[in-house]
Amino acid sequence: MTALAYKKSIQNVTPYAPGKPIDEVKRELGLSDIVKMASNENALGPSPKAIEAMKDGAANMHLYPEGGCFYLKEKLSARLGVTPENLVFGTGSNEIIEFIVKGFLGTGKEVISSQYAFAVYPILTQVYGGRYTEVPAREYSFDLEGILRAISPDTQIVFIANPNNPTGTMVSRAALDRFIEQVPEDVLVCIDEAYFEFVADAAYTKKHYYLDRPNVITLRTFSKIYGLAGLRLGYGIANERIVDYFNRIRQPFNVNAMAQAAACAALDDTGHVEKTCAMVEQGKRYLYTELEKKNIAYIPSCTNFILISVDDSQRVFEALLRRGVIVRGLKGYGLNEFIRVTIGTEAENKRFFDALLAVR
Ligand code: PMP
Repeated sequence: MTALAYKKSIQNVTPYAPGKPIDEVKRELGLSDIVKMASNENALGPSPKAIEAMKDGAANMHLYPEGGCFYLKEKLSARLGVTPENLVFGTGSNEIIEFIVKGFLGTGKEVISSQYAFAVYPILTQVYGGRYTEVPAREYSFDLEGILRAISPDTQIVFIANPNNPTGTMVSRAALDRFIEQVPEDVLVCIDEAYFEFVADAAYTKKHYYLDRPNVITLRTFSKIYGLAGLRLGYGIANERIVDYFNRIRQPFNVNAMAQAAACAALDDTGHVEKTCAMVEQGKRYLYTELEKKNIAYIPSCTNFILISVDDSQRVFEALLRRGVIVRGLKGYGLNEFIRVTIGTEAENKRFFDALLAVR
């Protein structure tokens, strides 16, 4: 008998484990009142302006979208201070991560990132037949010098999640500048800034995209601060050569019309972004204070989520689930001593904290 040529490299992949959806928990546990604090979404929802734009757009969904995201590209490039030719859009920034691996990783070649880095990097490396090297983290953060030392002639891509998910830690602009200067130009550096808008630390990168370098791309997303995770929209900022290359990989209509319309409206609603940042800052202050009062350790975060120390994250995750609070256990990341909780509204944060005290 002949058989399909299933690839070993793909067959061996452990699929990405997403945060549990609310409806699944309702079905499985028969609960009705559930809060999801598991996937770093925006608890305030989308901007009301984005919701309006989606309603207006619904009647035109029989038409294919703008293939190149023309209006969104114009608006966003002006906002970022780059040219439209510096932007490429994807079905979530996850799709841009795939463009990077598809476009620049040869079979058997190497991708480097940090221990505890975002799980999609090793998965895509494996899918495309590459080799993934994890450099040990330093205090839950990326060790950029360690990564530099690990670069070998086989290295083709380095992923720096800044801030990182799941740890919530960042590296400074100065450290990143020094790092990028030293990375050989035949190694693509991807700076993944999914949580960029939440970072308040003055040492963090602002408005700097390394467009003068041949080998750097910065990623952002509409899934987090803009509250549009369900639409799947992310983008890369890079020099024109990289963008042009990715436009050849990209499917003709990879970003749907609803996402484009909503994102344009969301960009106009700076008030919603500010409100979200304020909610997250206030929520973090509340949780930090309560955790300290109870002597519960946590990793200070510059994002919209926190790692909180527990005895066994799988056990605590399940116990919280039974109380209708969905968080993320981190066993798969080798961080079973922490749960990750996304900052929610004031009421959600309180509900989570009370439930945590009850199950801990
Ligand atoms: N990078 C990081 C560091 C993330 O945490 C996420 C979302 N979990 C992504 C990229 C992908 O986000 P999206 O595909 O929704 O844009």
